[in-house]
Amino acid sequence: MRSGTVVEEAASTARRPTRPGRRRGTLRGLMPHARPFLWRHRRVLLRLGAWSLMESAQTFLVGICLARALDQGFLVGQPTVGLAWLAVAAVSILLAGPVLRGVFGQLSGLVEPLRDGLVRRAVREALRRAVADPARAAGAERAAVSRLTQQTEIARDSFAGLVLTVRSFLFTAVGALVGMLTLAPELLLVVVPPMLLGLLLFLLTLAPMAAAQGRFLDADEVFTNRAGGLRGQLRDLVACGATGTAADRTGGLIDEAAASTRSLARWTAVRTLALGTAGQLPVLLLLAATPWLRDQGVTTGALMGALAYLVQSLLPALQAMMTAVGAAGSRLVVVLDRFVSAEADGTDTGEPRETESGDQGAFASPVPGTAPAVWCRGLRVSYGAGTRPLVEDFGLSVEAGERIAIVGPSGIGKSTLAHVLSGLHTPDEGSVRLAGEPIAGRSPRELARMRVLLPQEGYVFAGSVRENLAQLEPGAGDDRLSRAVSALRLGPLVDRLGGLGADVDPGALSAGERQALCLGRAYVSPAPLLILDESTCHLDPAAEAHAENVLANRPGTTLFVIAHRLSSALRADRILVLDGTGTAFGTHESLLRDSPLYRDLTGHWNASG
Ligand code: ADP
Repeated sequence: MRSGTVVEEAASTARRPTRPGRRRGTLRGLMPHARPFLWRHRRVLLRLGAWSLMESAQTFLVGICLARALDQGFLVGQPTVGLAWLAVAAVSILLAGPVLRGVFGQLSGLVEPLRDGLVRRAVREALRRAVADPARAAGAERAAVSRLTQQTEIARDSFAGLVLTVRSFLFTAVGALVGMLTLAPELLLVVVPPMLLGLLLFLLTLAPMAAAQGRFLDADEVFTNRAGGLRGQLRDLVACGATGTAADRTGGLIDEAAASTRSLARWTAVRTLALGTAGQLPVLLLLAATPWLRDQGVTTGALMGALAYLVQSLLPALQAMMTAVGAAGSRLVVVLDRFVSAEADGTDTGEPRETESGDQGAFASPVPGTAPAVWCRGLRVSYGAGTRPLVEDFGLSVEAGERIAIVGPSGIGKSTLAHVLSGLHTPDEGSVRLAGEPIAGRSPRELARMRVLLPQEGYVFAGSVRENLAQLEPGAGDDRLSRAVSALRLGPLVDRLGGLGADVDPGALSAGERQALCLGRAYVSPAPLLILDESTCHLDPAAEAHAENVLANRPGTTLFVIAHRLSSALRADRILVLDGTGTAFGTHESLLRDSPLYRDLTGHWNASG
């Protein structure tokens, strides 16, 4: 067994079995990390149990002493005996102080290692990210600071609260139930069923409530992202007459958020019912069953003792536990999941390596510090259930700065793959990371900073040349725009349009001119990954070659080109050949040797010039 804490186990065992877009925080997902942690701290748990047994004894004594004080003292004219029993009860109550001290002493032996482990994990993760991507070290630092301060404290407090209340309920219940059993077993017949019913109802609400909470957060996040995105697109939407469509789509998200809120409210009502059943019903039933209990020979003292057990010990402990499990429990699961997922996202290991023949589905996972620019594994992509997948068990690892061409027959899935790598199409299975960051669940704004996908149709909107070029980096100054214009040789076009400040009439531009402006926009964008999906097809071969070279040489750029000419493939460092049943990945020379489809395609391209 390795040393460390509950969260450290995550480094070796955590995988991301969930599908993209799905919320990951579940108790089941954390259990593999919790079990070894608890096992390692079993001695602390035993000592905690020992102190808690004293709490059971104390609970037991309070009810018994009260019953004896009445039955053997005050109700039979022996006040000194009654007072003596009450004195014993008082001493047992006074013992609560030292007992609680002992409990807290052990609690720190459980809670502090959890906190230390979370801090170690946050620092390790921040260092890994900073080394992998120095440019984003500041962001990694901020995330680490949040984890080191707020999130570890939330986890620590929630965990401590849970341990305290769950433990207190269990040991109080033992004391109270044994006490009632000692006083009169009939008491249990009245008290235990409603308590069990309430507890069961409460447990049944846990999973659906967590799911409803997750759905609500998902819907809220998607809606917030969409609303934020729309704000920046208003001008385009109005220009294209697409406000109605955008409103329809957003309306659906609002409905989804409302439905998940209603579902959450329904489950909250069930939980309130559970609390009432477990918390209040036993007292009511005890009072209602008094005549029957008296008939069974249950004494007044035993009845008062049972009432004391319920009202003073059991029900407060039960309510405290239910509240803690409902609130602190879900907070703890969410926060721990963030730690576990963050590290699992960064250090998954054990993936196969790329084979010599360039076979797909066999790729090394990112090594910390050297995150590939594009990495995916286990991809299965289709357009709906029952349709033939376009790729299956597909993996790819591309280093930063590489130039990749994707080739294959028309309709084989090249554009779809480009959409998957861009985060625009969610794969049925598998995951995609860009520069080590998972793309699943990212907002359009975040995606725009990670990659640019240029489609075949260059989309130029009604606005100035400047606004068109700076669309993906609105803060870009004229210097930067001019560099793009000059690098891509767009000067004559921009001059003809009237300069950077001139308004563009998209309809007056040729398809090639629109593509040229879009290439300029890609050059200006901050994204390190550029994917050209036949987005130079309306340029002549020389202009196309120049544009590809300029974009590939843009500092820090990884370039993917869906090629419609052999020349694009020849310029690439490596070529991905899609052919439906299998794929091949390698250099031009290795593919000419190993891929019959690539030989066919090059023959076809050569023949058609
Ligand atoms: P390529 O880029 O290689 O020409 P695509 O990725 O565009 O291929 O398309 C691959 C297959 O998926 C084609 O059979 C196409 O008809 C189908 N396809 C593309 N887009 C959709 C869609 N939105 N819905 C259903 N099928 C689609």
